[in-house]
Amino acid sequence: MVNKIFRLSFFTSMLILFLSICLTFGVLFGYFESQMFTELESEAGYISYALKNEGEDFIDNFYENGKRITLVSSDGTVLADTYTSAKELENHSDRKEIEDAINHGKGTSTRYSNTLMQKTLYYAEKLEDGTILRVSTTQNSVVVVLLGLSQPLVIIILIALIISLFLSYRLSRSIIKPINELDLDNPATNETYEELAPLIKKISAQKKTILKQIKEAEQNRQEFTSNVSHELKTPLTSISGFAEMLKSGGTPDETVIDFSTSIYDEAQRLIALVSDIMKISELDEGAVPYEKECVDIYELSKDIIKMLTPIADKRNITINMIGDNATVFGVRKIIDEMIYNLCDNAIKYNKDNGCVDIVVNQANNKTSITVKDTGIGIPALEQGRVFERFYRVDKSHSKLVGGTGLGLAIVKHGAAFHDAEIYLESTEELGTSVTITFAE
Ligand code: ADP
Repeated sequence: MVNKIFRLSFFTSMLILFLSICLTFGVLFGYFESQMFTELESEAGYISYALKNEGEDFIDNFYENGKRITLVSSDGTVLADTYTSAKELENHSDRKEIEDAINHGKGTSTRYSNTLMQKTLYYAEKLEDGTILRVSTTQNSVVVVLLGLSQPLVIIILIALIISLFLSYRLSRSIIKPINELDLDNPATNETYEELAPLIKKISAQKKTILKQIKEAEQNRQEFTSNVSHELKTPLTSISGFAEMLKSGGTPDETVIDFSTSIYDEAQRLIALVSDIMKISELDEGAVPYEKECVDIYELSKDIIKMLTPIADKRNITINMIGDNATVFGVRKIIDEMIYNLCDNAIKYNKDNGCVDIVVNQANNKTSITVKDTGIGIPALEQGRVFERFYRVDKSHSKLVGGTGLGLAIVKHGAAFHDAEIYLESTEELGTSVTITFAE
């Protein structure tokens, strides 16, 4: 930023210097030109007086460095000229200053030489006898004057350049200093530019929000750790208890089978739990190692139904697939997990002989999937909490049906990852419907 301010102020001062030089020269040239015309006019007055007294001989004898006198008749014929023989000169009636003098009594004009190095100023006036007296002089053009002044100009520019460099450096430092000295830990104590007040206010507010978020994240982490420890401890305690009893020996054969089955079931629960924890951590960190692709959620749901049908059949639950092929751009593995968890819940928390409808819909650039069951439903007060990690309405029922308490949390994180929306509708004893809507 210091460099940017330095460059900006330096170039601005250089530009101002350049423009000032151009402007000064322009104004001075205009001023000098009008001065020279005034001079030519008063000189024409003297010459006309001299002509009256001495006649055209005055012109032949006239010499003044840089000044030229021409006497022209009213038809434009050159009668006398201090530079060239009058005979050699063409008719001057088309010269602007002569034309103006013939018509209006006086006239002026300026003409540049071909090389643009010099310009000639003409002043003409009609004398009493009708002839036109023209006095002219030459003036160096801006280029010539600039060339003549090049040495002092270069010195002036160099001095201005050094001063500008120094001042720009000091200016940029002094502008940035108060910003560098801002105390972002205590934003309210800063006394700096008025214009920075809204920014400091914003930083202060953001700091508060960040601190709050850190606190919340830390709280969440602690809660999650204690929940995980608790969830792991319960099956591990029973595994350890059964194993201890088996170790002490003397357990009848049929009880050994029961204990082994319990150990196996608890171990399966642990595997499911650890696997869900890993999935949720992956989504939490946003470190999903899979590429996004076009996923047909209708076909995906059909595959999921195939896997879940044997479980549903055991309780005579019917699964219906409604809708048509519909694609979503996302991570197949995560979408699969989300739909699987919804269908799994719709069966787990259903009643025997119940029904599950899976409806896929694509309209208005949105693709949605609804999983609707005729199960036990979720009490209105609990509906806002079921997406929290480890939250279960009925803990014992959830455990009984093999739940980890993480299924809907995975759905929520998966939806957030895909910028999808979740809508849950449920009535106790009538059933639950969860819709995920993906925007295209
Ligand atoms: P779980 O592994 O226990 O099923 P979830 O996160 O999937 O955990 O669900 C959280 C809780 O929400 C469940 O324990 C259950 O009480 C309730 N729930 C989820 N889906 C349904 C449903 N379709 N019908 C009734 N209750 C449900």
